[in-house]
Amino acid sequence: MLFTPTRAAALATLAAFVDRAGRDYAETRNFDHGPGERGNVSGLSLYLRYRLVTEDEVVAAVRARHPGQAADKFVQEVIWRSYWKGWLELRPSVWTDYLGDVARLEGQSGGWRRDYERALVGRTGIDCFDAWIAELAEHGYLHNHARMWFASIWIFTLNLPWQLGAALFEHHLFDGDPASNTLSWRWVAGLQTVGKTYLATAGNIARYTGGRFVSAGLATQARPIAGPPVPPAGTLAAADPRPTGRVGLLIGEDDLSPETLDLGGLEIAAVAGLGQTRGRAAAVETFVRDALDDACGRAAAAWQVPATALTDATPATVAKWASAHGLDRIVVAHAPVGPGAQHLAEITQALQQQGITVSRIRRPWDERAWPHATRGYFAFRERFQA
Ligand SMILES: Cc1cc2nc3c(=O)[nH]c(=O)nc-3n(C[C@H](O)[C@H](O)[C@H](O)COP(=O)(O)OP(=O)(O)OC[C@H]3O[C@@H](n4cnc5c(N)ncnc54)[C@H](O)[C@@H]3O)c2cc1C
Repeated sequence: MLFTPTRAAALATLAAFVDRAGRDYAETRNFDHGPGERGNVSGLSLYLRYRLVTEDEVVAAVRARHPGQAADKFVQEVIWRSYWKGWLELRPSVWTDYLGDVARLEGQSGGWRRDYERALVGRTGIDCFDAWIAELAEHGYLHNHARMWFASIWIFTLNLPWQLGAALFEHHLFDGDPASNTLSWRWVAGLQTVGKTYLATAGNIARYTGGRFVSAGLATQARPIAGPPVPPAGTLAAADPRPTGRVGLLIGEDDLSPETLDLGGLEIAAVAGLGQTRGRAAAVETFVRDALDDACGRAAAAWQVPATALTDATPATVAKWASAHGLDRIVVAHAPVGPGAQHLAEITQALQQQGITVSRIRRPWDERAWPHATRGYFAFRERFQA
């Protein structure tokens, strides 16, 4: 699948889908007809992931076309994304624990290692799983139902550590997202809603893939994986105070629609793209780099200022950029829990030691949604009206 890394492509994808976001979507979304046959879902996830289009833009367009409740199912799915983002934001240790687990497991030579190697090259003998491994590497996308089946087979049939499955997804998926991905894997494993697991069955796979797979030999039960208890929800830290006057605008990969941020009243003097290569699949790295360039180009045009692409940005290269433009104040969109936030935290700390203030701006959507991700999704949805 080829994805165009621009906001224009994101908006065009939304416009092309919006008619189908009502009843059509609700009735057909669970069917996985295979690569190239994705008309029943939006294909917006990678654009939402990097905010080439934002949740509120998507929801507004869909609601405008489908008044009343016709698009509720679709909107609920978009809200799942906001729920997972908020959930992780309130419990960042779940992300750092996951990273620690992946590093530990990658160095281990457990009895599961041979099955793991076989799974990675698609030689498990389970026809659907082997097909999805190839699809994941080739297209960087799997249908939602296939992701659920894949994760279930990985955990309960192949008995592999869920963390390595999540890391594999994060490596290949164009929409790879620390919150949606990690927490969905935890949900399938029974760690997220404690005691509730997801079991893939051959009948369900055959039904929703139009009989493309036989799926012999799947586990018939899914006992929850043992794991540390879910940490209690913390409180959302207050957003940084907004600066005033002349500032530089940094753009990170987690928010690539800077022109829709509320920066009114600020004099944007220069723009820089905060590049971060993270060892994802080459096509994903290229997509993200080009999407960042697209965002910088739009911002430069919007504010009529120079834009600089800081490939693999470090505190030193950001400080050099700030000094070249005589900046002592920088604004940047808040980066949610994940590698982007970690990168930004390191840069912020170093800049602040040099007397440069960095203000992270949170979008009103996140500000309204995230504090409610303290319990389950249904409680969240009652309190967060989109
Ligand atoms: C194990 C597993 C891993 C996943 N990893 C990711 C990931 O890394 N990144 C990611 O964006 N989504 C992830 N998802 C959620 C979901 O599978 C994808 O968002 C969806 O398949 C993307 O296709 P689409 O844009 O056509 O979705 P649509 O069905 O058109 O949905 C519209 C939008 O709603 C959001 N959405 C839909 N379903 C979910 C969901 N279950 N959870 C959270 N958001 C949802 C997405 O932003 C999506 O673009 C994962 C799900 C599972 C079960």
